[in-house]
Amino acid sequence: MSQTKAYAAQTAKSPLTPFSIDRRDPREHDIVIDIKFCGICHSDIHQARGEWSAAMPETIFPMVPGHEIAGIVKAVGSKVSKYKVGDHVGVGCFVDSCRTCEYCKRDLEQFCNVRTVLTYNARDFEEKPTYGGYSQGIVVDEKYAVRIPDNLPLDAAAPLLCAGITLYSPLRNWGAGPGKKVAIVGLGGLGHMGVKLAHAMGAEVTVLSQSLSKQADGKRLGADHYYATSDPETFTKLQGYFDLIINTVSAALDWNQYVNLLRVDGSLVVVGVPDDAIPIQGFPLIARNRSIAGSSIGGIKETQEMLDFCGKHNIASDIELIPIQKVNEAYERVLKSDVRYRFVIDLASLR
Ligand code: NAP
Ligand code: ZN
Ligand code: ZN
Repeated sequence: MSQTKAYAAQTAKSPLTPFSIDRRDPREHDIVIDIKFCGICHSDIHQARGEWSAAMPETIFPMVPGHEIAGIVKAVGSKVSKYKVGDHVGVGCFVDSCRTCEYCKRDLEQFCNVRTVLTYNARDFEEKPTYGGYSQGIVVDEKYAVRIPDNLPLDAAAPLLCAGITLYSPLRNWGAGPGKKVAIVGLGGLGHMGVKLAHAMGAEVTVLSQSLSKQADGKRLGADHYYATSDPETFTKLQGYFDLIINTVSAALDWNQYVNLLRVDGSLVVVGVPDDAIPIQGFPLIARNRSIAGSSIGGIKETQEMLDFCGKHNIASDIELIPIQKVNEAYERVLKSDVRYRFVIDLASLR
């Protein structure tokens, strides 16, 4: 066991404060990662504040959030073959799964029939709580780590481990590419990665944001068009326009307005996690063969594919680097949509 410095929420109502956790001694297939950077995903806030208690098996406090982990391999177990000391690696939203069920065999570990062991706020197969990346280090089976291309800066690459894969997967799954019109709803952490990735895949990209205040950024990130959803004109002008709309917003929306923006056979894919039910009228879906779907992160194989794609196209996140002592302030700013476009914690500040 090694004592590791971290930041934790002690309850759903308390701010994050310094905490100490035990990381296991490395097993044969484990790698020990010196965590350099960890992104702040909106999901960290949802969970640290107990907002997903109804949907998850349990909410475990003290909670050390963080599932956008980028670091350097510091030690390896005797049977590790994929990595060596000094390699740049990442850990995303989960650190284990059963490895034998139908979905694990298909490289879709996020849907494991037995248990996808989330990186934090979960229990491993020994029923011990897992702790995330707001910490100095993590020990993980090499199968559940991914390689970060050397040309990507580790700090800006960290958000690829969740925001990147969460957008890459549906963009690929629903065929974003040349000739396809893709809309990204919400220009936050997930949304800005969606713009970069869809643009690199060759799709025509439109941002649908609450206002035009980030329009110049949106265009710089790769958007061809930018509209404000606060302007009712947007919903008349763009009727029947998009092949794919990816919604990254967790707030309640007027969902039927977005369905009406889809072409025949178009899909509205939900990745932002709304609290409330999604009320959709049947007729606008049926009359144009439209679909509404969800999408959850991505498996290890696809996460590696996404990182290699980002390495090839030189894509990383636009970040604001903060010391861990500013994490509570950063949470408040994320809640106000005041983030350009992902906060990343510099774990050197914990030492
Ligand atoms: P974020 O950085 O806070 O971005 C969300 C964006 O939503 C904001 O930047 C804002 O964009 C827009 N927004 C915020 N409040 C709004 C409101 N009241 N009405 C309309 N738009 C609003 O969050 P994130 O880290 O990208 O995460 C977004 C959601 O995805 C969270 O619910 C998170 O839990 C979820 N998530 C899902 C998965 C998955 O696998 N499906 C993975 C990771 C995260 P504009 O200012 O441009 O409007
Ligand atoms: Zn996340
Ligand atoms: Zn499984």
